[in-house]
Amino acid sequence: MSAKVISGKEVAARIKQELAREVGLLKTKYNVTPGLAVVLVGEDPASQVYVRNKEKGCDLVGIYSEKHVLPADVPQDKLMSLIEQLNNDAKIHGILVQLPLPEQIDSQAVLEAIRADKDVDGFHPYNVGKLMVGEARFVPCTPQGIMVLLKESGMDLKGKQAVIIGRSNIVGKPVALLLLQEHATVTICHSRTKPLSEQTLRADVLVAAIGRPRFVTADMVKPGAVVIDVGVNRLPDGKLCGDVDYDAVAEKAGAITPVPGGVGPMTIAMLLSNTVKSARLHNNIVE
Ligand code: NAP
Repeated sequence: MSAKVISGKEVAARIKQELAREVGLLKTKYNVTPGLAVVLVGEDPASQVYVRNKEKGCDLVGIYSEKHVLPADVPQDKLMSLIEQLNNDAKIHGILVQLPLPEQIDSQAVLEAIRADKDVDGFHPYNVGKLMVGEARFVPCTPQGIMVLLKESGMDLKGKQAVIIGRSNIVGKPVALLLLQEHATVTICHSRTKPLSEQTLRADVLVAAIGRPRFVTADMVKPGAVVIDVGVNRLPDGKLCGDVDYDAVAEKAGAITPVPGGVGPMTIAMLLSNTVKSARLHNNIVE
């Protein structure tokens, strides 16, 4: 079997086109320009690339964006004052602090300082709680993007076995809640799950969010499964690869996302979408 390739790049491009139209309408009809502030602390090369891609996305769809770069040794209070300033800035509807933050910073305190109604990453405890009870306002971008890709796969999730490898707050746990809302039966695996393949072989939907290159091999995958590869790993030769052994698994799966060009572009598209949604909510625009 050769799996259907679910191209996040193509789906994200479609979503960005729709968002560009929507932003155009917000500008002309309501004089509202959605605004996103991105805060980058330090000079981590991967974070710099992510932030640049987010800025490019904003430019493409017409969202106003501003970048705030702070040195790696910035004290907590300085970062908190910047968040406070952005919280009170009327042209900013979304605030994103690029993770990970340096060690001296209490990341959770920073995420909690962002106004919940500008928390387009969906990491504030208020938004996490709303997601938990099925009333999400801002759903974290990567899990939201994964759900769009699953819809694209054509699989009806009701009653299916969904297995997630990884239990992080930014991917594993929220994607589990979203799958549960779609009536899948959900299993979350992690580094202590033994034996892991016993779980993964039951999966109609397998989400790999581990951070280990080509960790998921073909012998761990049920024939015909939909496989979503969230991992982004840099190989010694500089190339990127996912958490899934793509070539071998594609022979066995029913559908699969590539890396790059799978989940990554969707994360950015969902960030833009959440920012536009926030601008609407701030201005009571329901159309
Ligand atoms: P994380 O916080 O490091 O979590 C990794 C998870 O994998 C943990 O729950 C860990 O288990 C589990 N794990 C590690 N080794 C394992 C093993 N041998 N067997 C089973 N489970 C194992 O990572 P994350 O932030 O969720 O990110 C995961 C990957 O997705 C990374 O490659 C990251 O770069 C990528 N990512 C991509 C995007 C995107 O937009 N494309 C967005 C976010 C993340 P324990 O909890 O037991 O340690």
